[in-house]
Amino acid sequence: SPEVVAQPRAPAAPGLFDANVVKRDFPILEERVHGRRLVWLDNAATTQKPQAVIDRLAYYYEHENSNVHRAAHALAARATDAYEAARDKVRRFLNAPSPKNIIFVRGATEGINLVAQSWGRRNIAAGDEIVITWLEHHANIVPWQQLCAEKGARLRVAPVNDRGEVILEEYERLLGPKTRLVSFTQVSNALGTITPAREMVDMAHRYGARVHVDGAQAVSHMPVDVQQLGCEFYTFSGHKIFAPTGIGVVYGSTDELEIMPPWQGGGNMIADVTFEKTTYGPPPSRFEAGTGNIADAVGLGAALDYVSSLGLVNIQRYEHELRLYAEERLARVPGLRMIGTSPEKAGVLSFVLDGLRTEDVGGLLDQEGIAVRSGHHCAQPILRRFGVESTVRASLAPYNTYEDIDALVAALLRLQAGRS
Ligand code: PLP
Repeated sequence: SPEVVAQPRAPAAPGLFDANVVKRDFPILEERVHGRRLVWLDNAATTQKPQAVIDRLAYYYEHENSNVHRAAHALAARATDAYEAARDKVRRFLNAPSPKNIIFVRGATEGINLVAQSWGRRNIAAGDEIVITWLEHHANIVPWQQLCAEKGARLRVAPVNDRGEVILEEYERLLGPKTRLVSFTQVSNALGTITPAREMVDMAHRYGARVHVDGAQAVSHMPVDVQQLGCEFYTFSGHKIFAPTGIGVVYGSTDELEIMPPWQGGGNMIADVTFEKTTYGPPPSRFEAGTGNIADAVGLGAALDYVSSLGLVNIQRYEHELRLYAEERLARVPGLRMIGTSPEKAGVLSFVLDGLRTEDVGGLLDQEGIAVRSGHHCAQPILRRFGVESTVRASLAPYNTYEDIDALVAALLRLQAGRS
């Protein structure tokens, strides 16, 4: 009968990529879990890797593997070229002025610690203030808390409203002559809220503060231009944008990097060493002591090529449509409460179900092959702001289809029906 014939859905926005085709680029998405097709909706925790990235890693180890910079032989040259080409891809991806502004680190956490330990130790003194927001991931709270404790500085936190948006008037009230640094996320990992980053950077600059933007949840969902944002620092993790784990990026403005001291000492980061005195190399090598994660940096370059081939504007538009669809469908699940209801959101659907523990919901969805995260998402303060200790979080990527959302909603409806 006509009722049972699935309605073909028009593409979310004509001319965009087809998510079903994108899905085929990711071999793991053919995996079966508990006998069911894997539905990967845990992208805010980590994304899956396209064949192009897997192939690039294999190629590196089969044809290029060497340490970089040091040895004068063919493979060292190949590895160095591949590593520096990846740095330049990151530069282009963020629209940084130069590859010298791009420091490779293990991930966003290490990047934020680098800024805190290097820039922070030099520039923060007793009585100074650092401003963050209630939306922050623990990675953008704890390093500043530690720095404040060490220096006798004060951490101040801009509140959010009931939709999970930073209250800009309150944020501005926290800014003043003592504010040295503002550090905030561009997209909340727990709620999905997109912060008005450009406006917040401008406001901080009016008070003479420097700004770090945590881009861990932003880079895979929207185009980012650090020069347009105007921030002094920007960090992200490769694994959340289809690259391997263990590689991430700090962008730093030339003015700041030039005068920042190293935060770790060792090989690669020096100009000259004697037992009496060491002089340090220029950025970015000054901040990359020891052998870096060469292969995974090369993998990150391939991931950025992949994302760019889909187009970040296309990804943003597609995920926007998919999220609106998901929100509309999830609203039909009895007892479901969405946490974080800003219209300005990227990629995240965070919710609780009346009378059900989030870990039980996560476990039951897993039995159906649907991977979501249940827990506090390393963002306890913002969840407590909404009176919960944990949520179920479904998070989106361009390989997620309308069918993935239907599978999630159907499973939640069955779960609720089973209880009544
Ligand atoms: N910042 C945000 C907003 C995040 O979502 C995450 C990871 O979930 C991090 C920082 C830390 O990233 P990583 O664990 O890759 O260092």
